[in-house]
Amino acid sequence: MAEPSALLDQAWELSYLRPLAARDIGLRLAATGGPLAAMGWLQVALAEVRVGDAAIASDALRRARQGFNAANDALGLAWCDEVHSIELRRAGDYAGSARVQAHSDARGTAGLGPMYEFVCHNTRAITAKLQGRNDDALRHFYAASDAAARTGWAGPRIIALCNLGGFHLALYNLDDARRLSEEALSAAREAEVAQAVVTAATNLINIYHAEGDMRQARSMVDFLVTHDNDLVPPMLHRHALSLALGHLGVGEIDAALGHLEAGAVAAVSDGDGQTMWAWLEARCLLARGDAAAAREVAEQTLQQRRLEQLQDQPFETMQLHLALADACEAVGDAAAALACMRQAHALYAELVGRSARARYVALEVTHELAQTQRERDRALDSHRSAEDDRRRLAELNGALQEQMRQTELLHAQLREQALRDPLTGLHNRRYLFEMAPGLLELARRQASPLCVALMDLDHFKLLNDTYGHQAGDLVLQRFATLLTQILRRSDVICRHGGEEFVAVMPDIDVDGAQAVLARVLEAFQSQPIESGRRRLPGGSFSAGIALFPRHGHTLEQLLTRADRGLYTAKNHGRARIEAAPQTGFGTLG
Ligand code: GH3
Ligand code: MG
Ligand code: MG
Repeated sequence: MAEPSALLDQAWELSYLRPLAARDIGLRLAATGGPLAAMGWLQVALAEVRVGDAAIASDALRRARQGFNAANDALGLAWCDEVHSIELRRAGDYAGSARVQAHSDARGTAGLGPMYEFVCHNTRAITAKLQGRNDDALRHFYAASDAAARTGWAGPRIIALCNLGGFHLALYNLDDARRLSEEALSAAREAEVAQAVVTAATNLINIYHAEGDMRQARSMVDFLVTHDNDLVPPMLHRHALSLALGHLGVGEIDAALGHLEAGAVAAVSDGDGQTMWAWLEARCLLARGDAAAAREVAEQTLQQRRLEQLQDQPFETMQLHLALADACEAVGDAAAALACMRQAHALYAELVGRSARARYVALEVTHELAQTQRERDRALDSHRSAEDDRRRLAELNGALQEQMRQTELLHAQLREQALRDPLTGLHNRRYLFEMAPGLLELARRQASPLCVALMDLDHFKLLNDTYGHQAGDLVLQRFATLLTQILRRSDVICRHGGEEFVAVMPDIDVDGAQAVLARVLEAFQSQPIESGRRRLPGGSFSAGIALFPRHGHTLEQLLTRADRGLYTAKNHGRARIEAAPQTGFGTLG
């Protein structure tokens, strides 16, 4: 099974395309019992309330509401209210439906998404239409169409076009009605939405007929009949009536009567279809020459409309009056015929008024919606450019940080270079003088010994003179390597200058230091050095060692004393390591 969230998206996409498929997905989601189960029940309720069983819808809605309540899900609860308003409308409680809608309108649709907006406007439009609030209905149908386009899904868009086209037909604004219905029909055919195909085609039969284009109305009948579709029951009578209309327009009375018979039961049970059925039936009877029967059918239905105080369907009512006028004239009742013509004329005037009003409102609304769209685009643009700014800033920040990192690295390198001797890679005098105070302080606190050794290569000038300066450099490097290899990592070793080296050796006494340096001396003396094709003999060095704190408290003092040791070492024949003499700083014992 796909991820629940992907399933839910699929259900939304199908909800106005194939409601029953959306319902089945809803049931699967509900069966998971997971966090989207309530949304699953909502899908079931939305589909059932529109094209299915009212009892199942109400049960599903109850379960959905329970889930959303438990999860404190505001969007879910808003959806429940919408479905509930459809439920009330379906049950004929238009005022109740409008009350629920008003309640959720007060809450607003901000942030609830275009699908929610679409359903809200669509349900409000239908309620307003049923209550005869035509301007409101038209505005909501346009808003629904606008929101539908923003969902990115075909279903809502097709339904919105169908509804808008159908409503313009009801308002007798035939131009917009035809344009929108033709658009709806081709979109519905492309998406293979049978119900929308039938609705749009049916509307078009009525539109073409009202425009007087009987041939086109008739060809739409052929299209509908050959179109293989599975109609849901409430559509059937309108389908039959429009087919009858298509045939009647071109004088095919038998065919028209056949469809009327099929549509009769449904038409009688529904005030909507009744007027149209009577008008067509009366026309057929007239065509057959039975004016009396035609008059009876028409009068009965008009009487019924008066009793039920039906105000809607001026077009069908006008047609019915016209048919009645013809029937009256045929039976020689000129006075009745004239009265009917007057009624028809009044209705026509109303239709023209409606049509003009519809065109005006449509223009106004499309202008407003275009304005809103521009504002949305602008907001989106400024959001995008704010995003761009943010991204650019982040990039700049990143670059800056990288630069700072590089600079720090460079600083560290420069500092390292400043503190190192480039020939041997050992630290230099500067480093020695930076580090020594800390090491001495530590030794003092820990009362541990610390030695400072001063080393000087023996007869180095001679080596340079004999083998050349390069060979001398090589020997210096070799000596440095030996020092780093043999001394401790904690010892600070540096090139003090020329062929002189210093080692600060914490935690070691003079004997220990002497022993370590003796190992260096031995290694230095015993290992020949390769210089190009030549082999240099191992060198030697002399060293003096001073001990902290016995020979001094500062590096300078200790170096001075170590130098005395070195001096002694040189004097005693070189290649030796001498402790500093006891003299000089006697107080430091
Ligand atoms: P002693 O045994 O008494 O120390 O004699 P010595 O020749 O080593 O001492 P002296 O101070 O007379 O000579 C030191 C020589 O070291 C002189 C100088 O040219 C050489 N020297 C100093 N720095 C460098 C260097 O970086 N590379 C090379 N190849 N030689 C250097
Ligand atoms: Mg020297
Ligand atoms: Mg020397």
